[in-house]
Amino acid sequence: MNNTVIAVDPGGSYRLYLTVTTEMVQEAKNIHKTTNLATAALGRVLTGAGLMGLMLKDEDSTLTVQVKGDGPGVEILASADGRGRVKGYIADPDVELPLKADGKLDVGGAVGKGTLTVIKDLKLKEPYLGRIDLVSGEIAEDLAHYFLLSEQQPSSVALGVRIGPDLNVQAAGGMILQILPGAQEACLDALEERIAALGSLTEHIPRIHSPAELMDRILGDLPPPYRPRVLEERNIRWHCGCSEERMEKALISIGEKDLEQLIREDGGAEIVCQFCLGKYQFDRKKMEALLREARHE
Ligand SMILES: [Zn+2]
Repeated sequence: MNNTVIAVDPGGSYRLYLTVTTEMVQEAKNIHKTTNLATAALGRVLTGAGLMGLMLKDEDSTLTVQVKGDGPGVEILASADGRGRVKGYIADPDVELPLKADGKLDVGGAVGKGTLTVIKDLKLKEPYLGRIDLVSGEIAEDLAHYFLLSEQQPSSVALGVRIGPDLNVQAAGGMILQILPGAQEACLDALEERIAALGSLTEHIPRIHSPAELMDRILGDLPPPYRPRVLEERNIRWHCGCSEERMEKALISIGEKDLEQLIREDGGAEIVCQFCLGKYQFDRKKMEALLREARHE
């Protein structure tokens, strides 16, 4: 079932991307065995990257969001493509901090001060790279800042992950609302009011059955000319896509000298995919074949 809607208002004042990613974030948690705090931090970045992937014009283009800070979580990275496929990791999946005064997980504390970098591979000669200083490390606010500064696109961003009493992901989702050029003032005022009253996205998610229903809960009571209409339904999901073939290419790319050293000292190699933790074994025979390829023999 599709978990994402892309919608616009009839007057063309805004475009809305809205997704429910509870299953994807649970999958990331299962793979990386993250603490609640790490699940929230990684889940927010995965959800944001997933929505940004859907903004890519070409389905084969890819995008990476890297959040790097001086906090104990160190680094969170997520990669997404135009088909809604997302993967990612957090450098320290065991990170834990006390809850904030408002009872929420301290994602900003786990991230600390640092930068947010977006790299887009649009199949052009050079990848696009945009980098900003983190505002709060809470991710949604940082992404809004990125859109404004790097893409000159005023946007409102909400990202949330709620952990249930059984320590599983109870709700996760995200919203990116882009203000379009020539937006009507009255529409923006009405939107601002609804977003201020929204509270947390994850409060609504356990009570809805589709992303369109979530959209209705948030913006369904706008005056009719400003109400969103669904343009497209999409699906954001976890997908790694690593394979033995890709790992072979990666090994060949490290070059003859390093390959020779691996054969001499270790008699082979084991590569662990940093996204899905899948393990790939290469014995001496296989390594020697790769070495021949690296030498173009
Ligand atoms: Zn993998």
